Amino acid sequence: MKVTSAEIVISAVKPEQYPNNHLPEFALAGRSNVGKSSFINKMINRKNLARTSSKPGKTQTLNFFLINESFYFVDVPGYGFAKVSKKEREAWGKMIETYLTTREQLRAVVLIVDLRHAPTKDDVMMYEFLKHYEIPTVIIATKADKIPRGKWQKHVKVVRETLNVVEGDPVIIFSSETGQGKDEAWAALQQRM
Ligand code: GDP
Repeated sequence: MKVTSAEIVISAVKPEQYPNNHLPEFALAGRSNVGKSSFINKMINRKNLARTSSKPGKTQTLNFFLINESFYFVDVPGYGFAKVSKKEREAWGKMIETYLTTREQLRAVVLIVDLRHAPTKDDVMMYEFLKHYEIPTVIIATKADKIPRGKWQKHVKVVRETLNVVEGDPVIIFSSETGQGKDEAWAALQQRM
C-alpha cells in the first residue's frame, strides 16, 4: 500500500461525531504503551501523526485518521491502565463497545500485542470480546526487533495459544523500528477492505 495522504479528521467523544461517508474503517486496539501509535505512524509513514501514549485522566476519544481519502484508521484508547478509576473504565468500555458492536463500516480490528510477552488478561478479554461479536481481527505482535529472530516463532506460538486465535485471524510479526511486517500487515488489511 502506498500511503499518499493521512490526516486526522476527528477526535470523537460521541457517535454523532463519527464520519458519515461510509468509507471502510479499521479500528486499532491494544493495551496502553504496547506500541499502537508507533504502529499507526509506521504504517502511514509519519513520525508523529498518531500521538504516542495518551495518559490516563485525559479525555478518551476515538481518533479517526483518513488514509488516501479512501478508508479510516480508528485509534481506540489504550486499555489496561491500572490507575484508571472504575468510572473512567466504564466510560471507556461503553464508548468502545458501542462503536465496535454497531459500526457498519468496521471491516476489522487490528489488535496490537507485544511479541516479547504472553498476552495479558486484558488482551485475552479484548480478543474474546471481538470473537464473541464475530469481528474479523488482525493480530499484530509488535516490538519484534527486541527479541532475536530465531525466537520469533516460539513467541508467536505463545501469542496464538494464549489468545486462542481462531482460524482466519492472522498473527503478524511486526516492528515499528525496522518496518518488519509492514507489507504483510497492509496485505491483511487490503484483503479485509
Ligand atoms: P501506545 O501507548 O500503544 O500508543 O504505545 P507507543 O506507540 O507510544 O509506544 C510505547 C513505547 O514503545 C515507545 O517508547 C515506543 O518508542 C516503543 N515502541 C513502540 N513500538 C516499538 C517497536 O516496534 N520496537 C521498539 N523497540 N520499540 C517500540
